[in-house]
Amino acid sequence: MAGNALRMAALERLGPVLRGALRVVYPPQCLTCETPVAEEGTLCPACWPDVRLIHGLACDKCGIPLPGESATAVLCDDCLTIARPWGRGRAVLLYGGGARRLVLGLKYGDRHDVAAPAGRWMARVARPLLRPDSVIAPVPLHWWRLFRRRYNQSALLAAALAHETGAELVPDLLIRNRHTGNQDGRSRADRFANLHGAIVARPSRSPRIAGRHVLLVDDVMTSGATLAAASEACFKAGADAVDVIALARVGREETD
Ligand SMILES: [Zn+2]
Ligand SMILES: [Zn+2]
Repeated sequence: MAGNALRMAALERLGPVLRGALRVVYPPQCLTCETPVAEEGTLCPACWPDVRLIHGLACDKCGIPLPGESATAVLCDDCLTIARPWGRGRAVLLYGGGARRLVLGLKYGDRHDVAAPAGRWMARVARPLLRPDSVIAPVPLHWWRLFRRRYNQSALLAAALAHETGAELVPDLLIRNRHTGNQDGRSRADRFANLHGAIVARPSRSPRIAGRHVLLVDDVMTSGATLAAASEACFKAGADAVDVIALARVGREETD
């Protein structure tokens, strides 16, 4: 895994001729396993069927797939009862199987090569949400976690999405003003209570979003508590509208 990140970093620094030569030595790997693949940013034939793309009808707030068809926007049962301060929400993948390996590789395994293709997939579903004044911003990590992990996976996704769409990126718009610990194993109510007020807009960045549309980016949406706290921070800083996008949405059977 770490070898792959080194390989990607080396590829970025080299010119096209050397890059071609390096590919012969280190052929690109599948994004979720170590099988060599023909093209950078793809999955091997064995891994593709294990990745569930969200398509068809989905909740307009949280992106969870819903049965049936509808010509108008619909909300899932959860989004009718849980506080969702943002406007619309989208997700590309249903969490689990290959999507889980993609997310974990990006988050802990230094598979930074997941970010560029993920940015392309996210751009497809994000485009209808974008306005000419849109600002893209990632959900922040607490500085201690950022220090330990060295990078924020949501920031990598936000940068890739901004690159694809041409929208303005403000990578350090939001900060966590206290350590919220691990959300895993907490009940939904606990997650919301734990995150409440834990995210604020950096005062020096607030003028960048005042009166504008913000698209918040996270790697995984589970309860939506983090995105709710981040949305509230944007509104407090004067954002006109906030929408959210996650690479993967955790399905109901996997939530608490
Ligand atoms: Zn594979
Ligand atoms: Zn929903």
